[in-house]
Amino acid sequence: MSIWTSLRGHLEQREMFRRAIQRHRLSQAYLFVGPEGIGKHQFARRLAQSLLCREPGGDPLEACGECPGCRPFLAGSHPDFLSVGCPVGKRELPISLIVGSEERRGKEGLCHDLSLAPLPGSRKVAIVDDADTMGEECANSFLKTLEEPPERAILILIASNLDALLTTIRSRCQLIRFSPLENSDIESLLLQQDLVQSAAEAQFASALSGGSLAIAKQLLEPELRLLRSLLYSQLSQPNFSGLGLSKQLTEGLSKISTETPVQRIYGQWLIRFTIEFFRETLWILHGPATGVIGTIPEAESFARRLANYPDYDELLGSLIERTIDASSHIDQNVSVPMTLDSLFDGLCHQLKPVATTR
Ligand SMILES: [Zn+2]
Repeated sequence: MSIWTSLRGHLEQREMFRRAIQRHRLSQAYLFVGPEGIGKHQFARRLAQSLLCREPGGDPLEACGECPGCRPFLAGSHPDFLSVGCPVGKRELPISLIVGSEERRGKEGLCHDLSLAPLPGSRKVAIVDDADTMGEECANSFLKTLEEPPERAILILIASNLDALLTTIRSRCQLIRFSPLENSDIESLLLQQDLVQSAAEAQFASALSGGSLAIAKQLLEPELRLLRSLLYSQLSQPNFSGLGLSKQLTEGLSKISTETPVQRIYGQWLIRFTIEFFRETLWILHGPATGVIGTIPEAESFARRLANYPDYDELLGSLIERTIDASSHIDQNVSVPMTLDSLFDGLCHQLKPVATTR
């Protein structure tokens, strides 16, 4: 079985590496750039295994899974495969991972390990994940290795934010851009990995994921799902309390995290869900269209009520506009609870006349 079977997309990049290996024209340093959660790291690992495999067969991008290169690689103990990344919960790639701790600077860490000779007939392959989280000191100490990589070493840097990398780092790597995955790929990955209970759920998460499996997974976190269904059940009620809803949502957010930056991300999701609710209502009222239609059942009863209201199109347009404004308020650092209060109170007022429509 191919080592690439479980990885979606990125066919062009695969072909590029296949040709480079066949022509013995591999660079010593690559920089993989693209949105988070689309498989850059998985790609790099597969590439690394194929480079370390002693018996790849006819396709240089494959790996046998059995040889003295593959076995230790798969067991996570190949001495020539090095991988570092930003630890969970940290914001910066620790310099100690690159050049060693303060006491043992230069005597351990990625740069040191890379300088050791590979096993006979092998080569060193190093993955530096989250390269865009390297601080300046860290990046500068890594630069020397990047400028003069040891012979038979290949470095793969991975980043989602190209602008956050020092120009000196960028300019020394061959840039490989990765695109977001197709929605259909995200959908089938979610179903395949049992991350959703229904196809509709997979469709909803993939439609909002922007082609990132990481974002799709975030959308499926139980806490966020709970807030989404609370939001939809309230919005579809004829007489919902705007401030009551925003209070419940704010409480829910603080259970997810007490950190403001995280609350902003999730607050933006609630706003996005609200927009999707109104957009879906529009689609229901205007007949079939492409999009996430059918994934918000609550929008149907809302649409039925709205259908009796004159100028419902105009009303929906203005509801969507107000909700988009709220998103830009969060971008401008207005507090999340304040933004939600003002948004849902406003929506509630705008929807009052609909509640009395028969
Ligand atoms: Zn092998």
